[in-house]
Amino acid sequence: MSKKPSLASLVFAYFEQRPFVELAHDDWVDEVMRQYEDLHGRVPRDPWRAARKLHEEGKLQKVRKGVYKYDPRLVYDPTLEEFTEQQKNYIFVRDQHRCVVCGKSRADGIELHIDHIVPRDKGGRAIIDNGQVLCAQHNFLKKNLDATESGKRLFIRLYEAAKGKDNQDVLTFCREVLEVFAKHDVNGHIDWTP
Ligand SMILES: [Zn+2]
Repeated sequence: MSKKPSLASLVFAYFEQRPFVELAHDDWVDEVMRQYEDLHGRVPRDPWRAARKLHEEGKLQKVRKGVYKYDPRLVYDPTLEEFTEQQKNYIFVRDQHRCVVCGKSRADGIELHIDHIVPRDKGGRAIIDNGQVLCAQHNFLKKNLDATESGKRLFIRLYEAAKGKDNQDVLTFCREVLEVFAKHDVNGHIDWTP
């Protein structure tokens, strides 16, 4: 007995036959449910989940809530680790050609990069949802983020310890260092207030 196609493969086939068309659930759900029922003899469960899964896998692009489209140029290719030129162009346009951290653009005389939000060595894939525009400086800082994060936490701990001992010299030193972190918006997600 040959293997019957999964619900996800039926949903994908429907989109694949209609490249670049924005499709809401109501557009495809009846047809795909009918195909599935013909093949499997029962009604599928949660066809919406199949579409979400295809989106998560990078096979369908999400246009807005509940609306997807198939764009053959943007499909994730697991053999590729890098973003394609088309994907890079898409990300640049989506992020308005600005660093998502500082908002600077090439007009400010800086270089822009496409960054993997989840790094490739941590399983991040070359799909557009995992890409963002960063300036050279913030790309560098992000790549070294682990080091600067522990640095900031170290100075926060030292600052709190000095406060307990009322050591004004160490307090001043730590405050100035932490103000430099704040001024350059480095590790802004780690809260520190004097
Ligand atoms: Zn930046």
